[in-house]
Amino acid sequence: MDSKEYIVYKCLNCNRSFILLASEVSHSENESKYITCPYHGTHRKIIVTGIYDSVKECMRERSYKRDKGKMKQIK
Ligand SMILES: [Zn+2]
Repeated sequence: MDSKEYIVYKCLNCNRSFILLASEVSHSENESKYITCPYHGTHRKIIVTGIYDSVKECMRERSYKRDKGKMKQIK
């Protein structure tokens, strides 16, 4: 019943986004309650920016926003 599998996080220290599997997150919560930045292990200001059923949906949303911008330029 776990339809939402991918969680998109953003590190507020370096403004980079990364995606984690929801199952991996819940697993690691047993070991440490904090998620650290994959780019800099000392960064701990992590926020959730989205939850998606698949990585494809994450990409689709990004490309959709880009396509919208292009359409505005054409008109
Ligand atoms: Zn970071």
